[in-house]
Amino acid sequence: MGRVYNFSAGPAVLPESVLKEAAEEMLDYRGSGMSVMEMSHRSKVYDGIIKEAEADLRKLMNIPDNYKVLFVQGGASLLFASVPMNLMKNKKAGYVLTGQWAKKAYQEARIYGEAVELASSADETFSYIPDCSDLPITDDMDYVYICENNTIYGTKFRTLPNTKGKILVADQSSCFLSEPVDVTKYGLIYAGVQKNVGPAGVQVVIVREDLISDDVLPGTPTMMKFKTHADNDSLYNTPPCYGIYICGKVFKWILDMGGLEAMKVHNEKKARILYDFLDSSELFKGTVRKEDRSLMNVPFVTGNEELDAKFVKEATAAGFVNLKGHRTVGGMRASIYNAMPIEGVEKLVAFMTKFEAENK
Ligand SMILES: *Cc1c(COP(=O)(O)O)cnc(C)c1O
Repeated sequence: MGRVYNFSAGPAVLPESVLKEAAEEMLDYRGSGMSVMEMSHRSKVYDGIIKEAEADLRKLMNIPDNYKVLFVQGGASLLFASVPMNLMKNKKAGYVLTGQWAKKAYQEARIYGEAVELASSADETFSYIPDCSDLPITDDMDYVYICENNTIYGTKFRTLPNTKGKILVADQSSCFLSEPVDVTKYGLIYAGVQKNVGPAGVQVVIVREDLISDDVLPGTPTMMKFKTHADNDSLYNTPPCYGIYICGKVFKWILDMGGLEAMKVHNEKKARILYDFLDSSELFKGTVRKEDRSLMNVPFVTGNEELDAKFVKEATAAGFVNLKGHRTVGGMRASIYNAMPIEGVEKLVAFMTKFEAENK
């Protein structure tokens, strides 16, 4: 069997050229006589890999010098705790609840201080982004937190909240490097790379230098202090070496594609093909308010659970895999991350058209 079109929400599709290159370098990385997996993280060769990855990421996102780039472990879920531990000086922060990942971050923050719900779209099953132009932000809040792209529900912040001068913290896990971002608008951006950028096990944290300090909540583990990783160029302990190496290759792949502007054009084109079809279909429909639709995660339903299941089954047999919606929402979800080629979406739509004709 050849490669399938993989619409998984994460871990997810990676560029084929990256996988091939990694395969070629598997036994002998550029004359080192060993795989990157076997290499000391203190070696000169590995130092080159991690430095180059960081430099390429800085170039891609145009990251200013007063921001640190950290490669850490523990899942995006560990950052739900690291963020308050490092930033909640006043023990109070505001959270916008736009889905399960935002909610989990909010609940985690409540272990460490007062997390305030600033707005929520729970009333309509998180199918939209609430108005964030005038949130009830108070002076004593340390930061405002958003999950910028909601992987499960398929919504995306098109405009960032008005944080009234407070630091903006964003979980960008499922939209990381999918389009240009103005890093200066954030105090901290983080992303688990397994959605759009690499294998599971690496999180990228981009954090403004003045937010990094020893002034963290009592009891914060050394490994969860941003300062630990910032002071040691992400080499305080053994980093997720191989994962960072693959991320570095994906950064280069995006640079070769033309950077984030080009990525955005590519992603908009793909998303439009699918959304246009959903808007014209009599069987399938999107579940998200149009203006808040994600370019990355596209949930849709037929309105009939049995038909949904039949669709997923037949799609899988035809080589379109991982289209089942998240276990908490049902229906279908096509995740069309950077590495999903346009043909993948075109062929999916052709398959959906055929399915619709057969199931009228
Ligand atoms: C997947 C995901 C997470 C959780 O990531 P883990 O690495 O599994 O902890 C958090 N936030 C968002 C937006 C996600 O998509």
